Amino acid sequence: MVESMDKIVALAKARGFVYPGSDIYGGLANTWDYGNLGVELKNNVKSAWWARFIRESPYNVGMDSAIFMNPQVWVTSGHVGGFSDPLMDCKDCRERFRADQLIEDYVKKAGVDVEGSVDSWSNEEVMAYIRENQIPCPSCGKCNFTDVRQFNLMFKTFQGVTEDAKSEVYLRPETAQGIFVNFKNIQRTSRKKIPFGIGQIGKAFRNEITPRNFTFRMREFEQMELEFFCEPGTDLQWFEYWKNHAVEWLKDLGLKDEELRVRDHDKEELSFYSNATSDIEFLYPFGWGELWGIADRTDYDLKRHQEASKEDLTYFDDEKKEKYVPYVIEPSLGVDRLALALLCSAYEEETIGEGDVRNVLHFHPVIAPVKVGVLPLSKKLGEGAEAIYRALSGHFNCEYDDRGNIGRRYRRQDEIGTPYCVTYDFDSETDASVTVRDRDTMEQERVRIDELVEYFRKKIVI
Ligand code: ATP
Repeated sequence: MVESMDKIVALAKARGFVYPGSDIYGGLANTWDYGNLGVELKNNVKSAWWARFIRESPYNVGMDSAIFMNPQVWVTSGHVGGFSDPLMDCKDCRERFRADQLIEDYVKKAGVDVEGSVDSWSNEEVMAYIRENQIPCPSCGKCNFTDVRQFNLMFKTFQGVTEDAKSEVYLRPETAQGIFVNFKNIQRTSRKKIPFGIGQIGKAFRNEITPRNFTFRMREFEQMELEFFCEPGTDLQWFEYWKNHAVEWLKDLGLKDEELRVRDHDKEELSFYSNATSDIEFLYPFGWGELWGIADRTDYDLKRHQEASKEDLTYFDDEKKEKYVPYVIEPSLGVDRLALALLCSAYEEETIGEGDVRNVLHFHPVIAPVKVGVLPLSKKLGEGAEAIYRALSGHFNCEYDDRGNIGRRYRRQDEIGTPYCVTYDFDSETDASVTVRDRDTMEQERVRIDELVEYFRKKIVI
């Protein structure tokens, strides 16, 4: 586990996971670009989610909806009216802050308790608390703030050639609404019966007031969301099912018990329409942070869309001969937050022998950006090693490296989290076998070249 965010940001840049966005132009604040290893890591996270939550699930199917949607969708969903954070300006240095975060940071630092969740406080309560406790501006240290006002987090742009109110569209702040508006389409074409779910992976955009903590809070990020439709009355049972399913999958990916906790929202924190909500949190270097939100949203969204669109969004249960608007369980997970958690969790500075430190990323083989490093012992052995690289590359992401001594090459693969290295040596020319080295145990075994694909196939699975 890595101990500081600075370390993970530096490592991510140095090894090709994540760079600051638009770097050669001096950057664009709080944007991040995934590099050669980062894109592999993120793709692996997405395919592992798709495999477990869509392909292998007897209940779920996938979809991919547009980022731009009819603006009425966001009025109906409540985002136009209520998707906002409390904004405060410092009158002295003019920095802007999220008022609730100022309080949360202060409470954490001072080790004091507050009643209920700051999220559910009114603007007046938030201002009173900040003034009574003289919470200082994190930038200049004074406590001289403006009143709180609500700041809508949706990005707006224009569609087409005219820039007027009629052509205004939003960049979606979540992928979920694309699923709700297609509930009928998917149910009809997939011929699924309730209970069933629809999942999708895609970009979401939020004009966060204070993006921070690297890729934990960004303005452009990716979500993996599932909307699971069930019969009213069975919702709490399905809520538990998906919560357990989610935790189990995170552990299968290698996250440890002590890095994960499930925080159930109490009554005051619950949205008025929700029967139950839990956050799965991960212990990031900056403290516990929400990784995955799981909510029982009842029939709230479908009913609102039904009323606003005048389309019938009920489901007819042909066994019970009953018509109803299904209840929905929504597990919503950020790709970037999970990739960051996996990176933090995998990091280890391992002391081996006297004073020798090995930097390793202990990624689960399915998550590792590079699965196999192919290393000829000598440049003279290039032909045989290249043939192996070609054969394995058809199945796994491999890296070929013939530069430097073999020990240094192993260490380089350890540093980027490659679980296996194949070394082609002089004996390989005669015994048609190679040495396979395991990243974590550093043990080596001899494997026949014609059995390598099968050998790795058995190891690179969840
Ligand atoms: P937070 O309270 O941290 O702002 P949220 O409760 O608003 O998060 P949801 O609306 O439930 O988040 O979004 C679902 C998931 O999307 C989150 O659990 C998180 O993994 C991810 N997510 C949300 N906002 C961001 C962001 N700004 N950057 C990266 N990931 C995000």
